[in-house]
Amino acid sequence: MTIEKNISLLEYNTFHIEATASQFASFETEEELVGLLNNTSIDKNNVHILGGGSNILCTKNIEGTILKNNIKHITILEETSTHIKVSFGAGELWHDCVCWAVENNYGGIENLSLIPGTIGAAPIQNIGAYGVELKDVFISCEVLEVESGKKKTIEHKECDFGYRTSIFKTTHKNKYVITSVTLQLTKIHTYNTSYGCIDNELQGNNLSLSLKNIADTVIRIRQSKLPDPKQIGNAGSFFKNPVIENSVFENIKLQFPNVPHFATQGQIKIPAAWLIEQSGWKGYKENNFGVHTVQPLVLVNYSNCSGLDIYQLSEKIIATVLAKFQIELEREVNIW
Ligand code: FAD
Ligand code: NAP
Repeated sequence: MTIEKNISLLEYNTFHIEATASQFASFETEEELVGLLNNTSIDKNNVHILGGGSNILCTKNIEGTILKNNIKHITILEETSTHIKVSFGAGELWHDCVCWAVENNYGGIENLSLIPGTIGAAPIQNIGAYGVELKDVFISCEVLEVESGKKKTIEHKECDFGYRTSIFKTTHKNKYVITSVTLQLTKIHTYNTSYGCIDNELQGNNLSLSLKNIADTVIRIRQSKLPDPKQIGNAGSFFKNPVIENSVFENIKLQFPNVPHFATQGQIKIPAAWLIEQSGWKGYKENNFGVHTVQPLVLVNYSNCSGLDIYQLSEKIIATVLAKFQIELEREVNIW
């Protein structure tokens, strides 16, 4: 394994932000990762693990070492008449794993089609879409502790999964490198199509209920709404959808009777996209960056803007939403 110096990260983040990393190395196996963590030129307190770079915003050059995860394998651990347990190498692309599952008629992750990035990053924010979250199929993950280089298995109950969060984003941030993820997928399926317009789309196109039809429908909806990072730099939803107390919601409803909302575990979730649009930001463009014209939750780099441009725009959006609704938006994207 070579440790390269002063590497451009332009091709390694879906925002297409130019920044350099002082040191950069890729690993294809756990042994290579252990070798890197034992290398004295790497400061373990300044290591950044990189997957597909689809949930990061580089606001400065990275002084430490970036370790790019390329561990790939799909290993069936257990199979019964009803389910299958599969271990995926953390460097596998998430969407490739969804396609593999759908092709083999294993259910549970079809609603999560077309989410960019690697499977190793999926537990970090408990990826979710269309009413399904990683936690619904997650069994455990194998990790290497950065400090000790020791291998560990982290079980579901230890991950403290929540709405776009887990211990890997909070208490144990940067402590572990996830090397593989084990999921339990179904052979007898329960379809989840009540969310958003999946049902309507299936019926409108005369499609029967199947893993493939759900996956294709999700892909079609996503392609119609979201900017393709290959064409316009972005990292998906920049902010989380705020979950607020009922009393706060009732106050907002007095002023905005049509506020969209969803009940969630005794609280209320309001789409951040609506708050941002109501605050006048939808389609906002400043020089070569801005707020997406269709989905205002997505901040975009039209060409060569800096990470600070995007960060400062996000500050302004947070301030105006706070002033108008007394709700403080929280960033979902990891700021580097
Ligand atoms: P990276 O961006 O490389 O890393 C993200 C964070 O995870 C970093 O802090 C990094 O250090 C850490 N990390 C990465 N790999 C590891 C590892 N192996 N071990 C330890 N830490 C690691 N997200 C959703 O939840 N739902 C969606 O529907 C969704 N849609 C998106 C649509 C678009 C167009 C885009 C651009 C993004 C979308 N995202 C969505 C966000 C993003 O795709 C996910 O968060 C994804 O899991 C990030 O994977 P990655 O490999 O690119 O992670
Ligand atoms: P959407 O379907 O237009 O929905 C907008 C908002 O309403 C989201 O906040 C969603 O919450 C919520 N919502 C809609 N139907 C719901 C229901 N039946 N129950 C509870 N909440 C409901 O959103 P979209 O932008 O097109 O995205 C579709 C899905 O893909 C969403 O799940 C979204 O989270 C996900 N997505 C995520 C990212 C990312 O980067 N994180 C990027 C693109 C899309 P939830 O967000 O909690 O689902």
